Amino acid sequence: MAVQAVQGDGRCYDAAARVADLVERLRQRGHRLTPQRLAVLRVLCEADYHPTAAEVAERLEPSYPMMSLATVYNTVDLLRELGEVIELILPDGCRRYDARTGQDHPHAICTRCGHIQDVGLRPDDTLRAEAARRSGYTLRSQRVDFYGLCPDCAAKESRV
Ligand code: ZN
Ligand code: MN
Repeated sequence: MAVQAVQGDGRCYDAAARVADLVERLRQRGHRLTPQRLAVLRVLCEADYHPTAAEVAERLEPSYPMMSLATVYNTVDLLRELGEVIELILPDGCRRYDARTGQDHPHAICTRCGHIQDVGLRPDDTLRAEAARRSGYTLRSQRVDFYGLCPDCAAKESRV
């Protein structure tokens, strides 16, 4: 199933192309993909809601009743090691995943309801260069997430 969505930066996202790209990269590194792992990969690339591992497992339950949560976690871990999945840890400790882009992108995270919104901003090279200068580290990537209230929660708060 091909899911198309326009990303924050205006580019069109093609989930099927992203899956094919990931499969190719995993093959190149000698990872064999079982049908179950491939199914996990598909859900991760198609889902636009930053699912938890449990949500991925739930989604696959009808088609793969024997699939364990461990299979989901193993696949997520593999992709994280390769830098292909972003792990978002919410203020309540809940972990959510995003494999839709190979690149890290900022998120706006609601501290009240936990809603996550992709922010279509490119990584700030100036900030990274300055961090590298001050730390003396050779920095190759960065994470920027923003925390606050989503429009719904902000509206509720202003009504109180
Ligand atoms: Zn909210
Ligand atoms: Mn995201």
